Amino acid sequence: MSDVYDVVVIGGGPAGYPAAIRAGQNKLKVALVDEWQNTDGSYAFGGTCLNAGCIPSKALLESSELYQRAKDEFATHGIKIGGLTLDLAAMQKRRASVVKTMTNGINTLFKAAGVVGIQGHGKLLPGNKVLVKGVDGAESTLEAKHVVLASGSTPIRLKTVPHDGKYIVDSWNALEFDAVPARLGVIGAGVIGLELGSVWRRLGSEVVVLEALEQFLPMVDQTIAKEAQRHFKKQGLDIKLGAKVSSAAVAGESVDVIYADAQGEHSLQVDKLVVAVGRRPFTQGLLAEGTGVQLDERGFIKVDEHCRTDADNVWAVGDVVRGPMLAHKGKEEGVMVADLIAGHFGEVNYKVIPSVIYTAPEIAWVGQTEEQVKAGGRPYKVGTFPFAASGRARAMEAAAGMVKIVSAKDDDEVLGVHVIGPMAGELISEAVLAMEYSASTEDIQRTIHAHPTLAEAMHEAALAVDKKAIDGLNR
Ligand code: FAD
Ligand code: NAD
Repeated sequence: MSDVYDVVVIGGGPAGYPAAIRAGQNKLKVALVDEWQNTDGSYAFGGTCLNAGCIPSKALLESSELYQRAKDEFATHGIKIGGLTLDLAAMQKRRASVVKTMTNGINTLFKAAGVVGIQGHGKLLPGNKVLVKGVDGAESTLEAKHVVLASGSTPIRLKTVPHDGKYIVDSWNALEFDAVPARLGVIGAGVIGLELGSVWRRLGSEVVVLEALEQFLPMVDQTIAKEAQRHFKKQGLDIKLGAKVSSAAVAGESVDVIYADAQGEHSLQVDKLVVAVGRRPFTQGLLAEGTGVQLDERGFIKVDEHCRTDADNVWAVGDVVRGPMLAHKGKEEGVMVADLIAGHFGEVNYKVIPSVIYTAPEIAWVGQTEEQVKAGGRPYKVGTFPFAASGRARAMEAAAGMVKIVSAKDDDEVLGVHVIGPMAGELISEAVLAMEYSASTEDIQRTIHAHPTLAEAMHEAALAVDKKAIDGLNR
């Protein structure tokens, strides 16, 4: 006999596990099936984000930034350290332990919400049944009133740059290096390329990033992107734009890369080459024949704005469906679906999803860039405030960057907020909340911000939109 559930979730990443927890909170009988296996052989919930993405990368970004600051900045504070050394093994041990604490936490959360967590592969069968092959090889079938597909994404591989996991690697491998590569090549100056390039640069690698596009960070407001490019150059990240890689091959203990740019063909030799050219939806082995679930031309599971697939009572959330591949976007979709299944209200506001690049300075934004607003034709006004004029940023020795706000001229609506600077990822939350509540720029202007805080830069930028900044030059 098969087990009968209200909801079965396939995939335990940041889209799937919140769906299961909210379904449990909604008093539904729920099971979640996940097959993630770590490099040490252990199985863990949490998907890409907790095991091989958001969390381990942020652990290493934090450690590497501390190392670099101890080396280059502490003396400015009057702190002198002699004989600073790097213990990469200890740094990696900490990274692994942060990950383990977080993934173990999901088991506790499942227990509290009454979620049955199953480690194994799940396959959707016609009629809302899920065939489970447990990690012990045993097969069982779960019957479900609703199935939520949350199978995530996987790195895009380049045919001419054959992955071997040792010299030509993906982001997961690059998080687990056991030695600092003297020369690191990265293909793709996107979010992963910049975050991982920063980690290894700070720890001593010479880093060359090869980006096919001529424009740097095209999805980012270009005032911010230009400022970022300047800082990364100063930090020694060698970012080559318009660089098209034609091939790469392992030669002995290193990798030979051939690429072409406007100046012609070049060769580059590196010790490790990270391919970070984007991710694609992962649906391998997920769907049996005849389920009715459709994929689009790029391989994403087709869904409507409420994450309903073409099959009755089958939903899909997270990286495997359209929209930005971000953990918090997947989480909100998972929660929405679990609420809709329970007959409650559920919605995701796709217009107000923040993005963060966790470099130093950090980059964060929400809403439209100035370029997008301009192209849309709506009259707009802009205010910026530099962290150089923020007392708190100066005190932190982190005065690089700015806040930029783009607002509508007609009704003062906040259209986009862009930050490059210290704690940008935290600061952007204020803008997200303001936009979610349809606040006007004046609403932010009239909100009291504590002094001295980094958040005052948001306040002053809002004032600058109407040329009313007190501590800035109203540019
Ligand atoms: P995933 O996290 O990929 O989880 C899917 C899960 O489903 C996996 O455990 C997989 O094993 C399992 N699965 C798949 N098929 C089956 C099946 N048939 N049966 C059972 N289990 C199955 N996003 C951010 O918002 N912030 C960040 O800072 C950030 N940093 C990142 C850093 C890196 C290096 C990478 C690679 C990504 C980062 N991301 C970040 C993106 C983020 O990780 C993804 O957007 C997020 O993990 C997507 O969640 P998901 O649940 O849809 O899929
Ligand atoms: P990305 O889309 O951010 O960047 C890929 C880059 O590679 C682009 O600039 C693209 O132009 C370039 N590129 C593509 N093909 C190329 C080629 N053949 N040669 C040279 N350059 C090429 O993708 P990513 O950095 O791999 O990240 C994947 C996903 O993970 C993203 O969707 C991102 O949202 C998510 N992620 C998010 C965070 C975060 O939120 N901080 C961190 C890491 C990853």
